[in-house]
Amino acid sequence: MTNDILVYIDHFKGDPLPASWEAVGAARKLAADLGGSVVAVVLGASVSDLAAAAIAHGADGARIVEDPLLAEFRPEPYADALKTIAANAELLIFPSSGRTRELAAMVAVDLETGVAPDVIELEVIDGQVIATRPIYAGKLLSKIVARDKRPLILALRSRAFPKLDADASRSGDIVTVEPEINAPKTEVKGYSDAEVGVSLTDAAVIVSGGRGISNNPKLSPPAEITDEKEIEVWKAQQGFKLIEALASVLGGAVGASRAAVDAGYIPYAHQVGQTGKVVSPDLYIACGISGAIQHLAGMRTSKTIVAINKDGDAPIFKLARFGVVGDLHEVVPALTEAFKERLQG
Ligand SMILES: Cc1cc2nc3c(=O)[nH]c(=O)nc-3n(C[C@H](O)[C@H](O)[C@H](O)COP(=O)(O)OP(=O)(O)OC[C@H]3O[C@@H](n4cnc5c(N)ncnc54)[C@H](O)[C@@H]3O)c2cc1C
Repeated sequence: MTNDILVYIDHFKGDPLPASWEAVGAARKLAADLGGSVVAVVLGASVSDLAAAAIAHGADGARIVEDPLLAEFRPEPYADALKTIAANAELLIFPSSGRTRELAAMVAVDLETGVAPDVIELEVIDGQVIATRPIYAGKLLSKIVARDKRPLILALRSRAFPKLDADASRSGDIVTVEPEINAPKTEVKGYSDAEVGVSLTDAAVIVSGGRGISNNPKLSPPAEITDEKEIEVWKAQQGFKLIEALASVLGGAVGASRAAVDAGYIPYAHQVGQTGKVVSPDLYIACGISGAIQHLAGMRTSKTIVAINKDGDAPIFKLARFGVVGDLHEVVPALTEAFKERLQG
């Protein structure tokens, strides 16, 4: 066993997931209590630049595997490489993403250990790492201690841990490892964008719309739209233009409740909540969202929550730091104008 803390650097074709640097920052803090070095693990076809970036963000060194079989992310060859590197480690930390969800689980199975997912806090007590994660849709916090199984594998929630400022003058050893990698049975043919705009999980600001978005009796649809459902969706789409305008002024992303997604107002990629994305922005503005527990599960750790709702008794106001009781179709454009004036002069 080594007492190095390994941090998996997640990336898409060399473009790092920002949460990777948060994971390095969290590992740095743990290393201050536990001792040992922070070692970035970078897998891909050509990743030495990423290894250097990991060192600039706080890693003491890096282990890299460069292999044509790793050019495209596929969990099988990545797990082959990672399990060899992590076999004797005490601690392996992942940033959370769709890719690492699969990878962490496969490595855990291969190394006969477990994963603590969605970690939002880490502490060291008597030399033991204690990971905190929300359970029951965020109603309770669970503290996880791994007594014997090693490595302890943690996946950290995006934006729950601060990253360190990059310092290009930092240096460290980059060691190339050549583990045995089996050829994967799958082939990647290509990619296409499912979503444009700012990624929800990385966004510092999210403006979300719910079912209330379609509730605008003052709006008249074009004459050719007569079907009731189509009118509702058309109204919602006009409403989401207001949400997009506010998000754009704030440099943020657009989120939605499941009710808005299920009703066809906006694609699923925008859904926040238990069965959507879990987000933790600095600012979350919920517009026409009641605050059902399943929605709160996806955004309750946001730093500042603002709610705009016609109903002063809506549960979202219990969580919100600031609330406006009013019609979102009036409040949101007024906010957009006010922010525009302040931010764009
Ligand atoms: C297993 C399971 C998983 C789920 N997963 C998720 C999930 O991931 N994400 C999620 O969001 N939900 C999820 N849900 C659904 C969840 O229970 C709620 O039904 C949903 O969140 C409600 O969405 P909403 O707040 O937009 O709609 P509603 O609850 O209908 O609320 C609409 C709100 O808009 C307000 N309003 C209406 N008109 C206006 C107006 N003009 N201006 C301002 N306010 C207005 C109303 O006062 C109301 O509070 C899940 C449910 C289940 C059972």
